[in-house]
Amino acid sequence: MPETAFASPALHEALASISANDSPQARDVWKMLATSGVVSALYDPPTPDGRWGLNPARLQTTLTALDAVLPLGTTLSFCVQAATALPLLRDALPDSLAGRTAREAVAGHITLALAATDTAAAGSDLTAMGTRIEQEGDMLVLTGSKRWIVNATTADHALVLARRRPGDHFTHFSLLLVPLTAPGVRVEPADTLWFDGAGIGSLHFDAVRLSADHLIGSPSRGLAAFARSISTERLASGLWANALASRVLTQTHRMLTRRRIAGAAQWDNTAVRHEFAALLIDQHRLQAMCEKACSPTPGGPPPTVAAALLKAAGAETLERTLTVCARLQGAEAFERDGLHHLRTEAAMFGIAGGTSHTLRDLIADHAETLLDIRNPAS
Ligand SMILES: Cc1cc2nc3c(=O)[nH]c(=O)nc-3n(C[C@H](O)[C@H](O)[C@H](O)COP(=O)(O)OP(=O)(O)OC[C@H]3O[C@@H](n4cnc5c(N)ncnc54)[C@H](O)[C@@H]3O)c2cc1C
Repeated sequence: MPETAFASPALHEALASISANDSPQARDVWKMLATSGVVSALYDPPTPDGRWGLNPARLQTTLTALDAVLPLGTTLSFCVQAATALPLLRDALPDSLAGRTAREAVAGHITLALAATDTAAAGSDLTAMGTRIEQEGDMLVLTGSKRWIVNATTADHALVLARRRPGDHFTHFSLLLVPLTAPGVRVEPADTLWFDGAGIGSLHFDAVRLSADHLIGSPSRGLAAFARSISTERLASGLWANALASRVLTQTHRMLTRRRIAGAAQWDNTAVRHEFAALLIDQHRLQAMCEKACSPTPGGPPPTVAAALLKAAGAETLERTLTVCARLQGAEAFERDGLHHLRTEAAMFGIAGGTSHTLRDLIADHAETLLDIRNPAS
């Protein structure tokens, strides 16, 4: 199915419902997108991409459409569920609790959070986490805290990464599906001025008792499964960054051609035009990277590396684009919903889902692979 066909019926129907609603809550947005078939279309054949657990071109179309009409926090709420939590759950056996929960989420009946970042450790040092699972007879007992979790205050279930043994070996971590109404779970909203609609908060687990069917996949494969799904989140981050940069450039260009300084359009100033042209070059470079990530490339880098490259490039492009465009917009950019607000929120593209420094570490680790791909003859 061509992407325009995907985009027109389901997505347009959902966007019409979203736009008809004055200030749609993230849960409503998820429900509208799910019931109109946009969520299931991300995972359905005919063109699933084995690398990402979903169809990247459809994800790009959806994120671009949502970014155009929703606050950043609400799009973030959708993105975490569609690009990270659901691909993880959908990997589970269809008749398991995780498999059934995935179907409920795809149908829009429930919403999800993904909780990896731990209160006891830096996000860049994930395997130092304190949140742990202990076995008591047939039951699993979860204790610890997670912080900066999108949808913490709104989700029905969280996928929680926790350690089952001391040490940092990758087999020592499991993923659990935790109902956020279970006894011992406490939800605390984050104290932040930013990300309205994302439901960001901490999740505290005080000896939460769960039956073994709450394990997602094999107990020793939690970190491996999380690492795979974080690549899809990083892909989503790059695709969304490109849509956001392109939207802000279009808005700013419109403003520059209309505003007049010293009797001429601001756009006629050579310095302004050159500065803007540099941003266009940057965004078109990111667009090319998005196209490459969306089309299977035989012999290309592994998905972990392709996603790290795209996310790091997206964060850099956005930072430059928003900084320069906000300056070019002058005082207007300081209005309540002006560009400086968006610029601060968009700094999350260099933090959430792995900081740009962590990604550079990963990219440097694969330098030889990337150089070989670039120069196959050498
Ligand atoms: C808006 C938002 C939404 C989020 N949503 C979620 C969510 O849904 N689920 C979830 O689990 N987590 C979520 N997070 C948490 C996010 O994943 C972490 O913030 C991230 O992993 C970074 O961890 P940290 O904040 O502890 O920063 P740190 O790891 O302490 O890093 C802080 C800074 O230290 C420096 N640094 C770190 N490592 C290196 C290095 N190797 N080399 C050089 N410098 C380095 C960098 O400057 C880095 O920016 C979210 C965060 C934000 C801001």
